[in-house]
Amino acid sequence: MELKSIPYGNSRIDFCLKRNERKTLGIKVYPDGSTVVTAPIETPYEKVTEKVKSKAQWIDKQKEFFMLFEPRAKEKLYESGESHLYLGKNYRLKINESNTNSVKLKGGYILINTKDKNNKKAIEKELKEWYKSKAIIHFQNLFENRLELAKELSEKDTSLNYKWFNNRWGSCFKDGTISLNLDLIKSPKECIDYVIVHEICHLAHHNHSNKFYNLLDKKLPNWKDSKEKLEKLLS
Ligand SMILES: [Zn+2]
Repeated sequence: MELKSIPYGNSRIDFCLKRNERKTLGIKVYPDGSTVVTAPIETPYEKVTEKVKSKAQWIDKQKEFFMLFEPRAKEKLYESGESHLYLGKNYRLKINESNTNSVKLKGGYILINTKDKNNKKAIEKELKEWYKSKAIIHFQNLFENRLELAKELSEKDTSLNYKWFNNRWGSCFKDGTISLNLDLIKSPKECIDYVIVHEICHLAHHNHSNKFYNLLDKKLPNWKDSKEKLEKLLS
């Protein structure tokens, strides 16, 4: 079985590709949301991706259907005592009313000073700004640790930027820019590093081909563990 990922619209379709003796191509979506495509050995990969793309809407429908049975991520309330993730650890919110706004980490707590304790939207915004400020520092450090690798794989100057993405952890542009999802600041550094290395490997291979995965395996042998950890924690 091979892990594949193909661009579709402005998102991607991830699936496992299984080759066997069967005569026709089959697509199955499992309750955990994973998609398995079984194809005859002789079907060229382009034909497989064509078929998967033509079934994209059906795949989404299946996933949505299974999602109905999944306990949804609880909507956050932004009140004292509630748990929020930062670098892979859970912290409890402690919200104080104050004339000035500030967010600080202390012990196992995220201390938030805010003007109105009941203004959830304002607290959410404050916390998001704080996550962003932390993300910029940590992402930049982790990225710098991988600059050697980027230089090895590409002659272009690489640079980093950040966004709140909904459905991806990062992307790599042909001009050498790597973009990271700010939400990653909630995951352990190991997972952020995995996304950075994944995107840096795209400097050499702008796709999810075998060559790409061979390179990723070589540069970050335990990437699958980090990927799994990340998906468990943040999806
Ligand atoms: Zn990728």
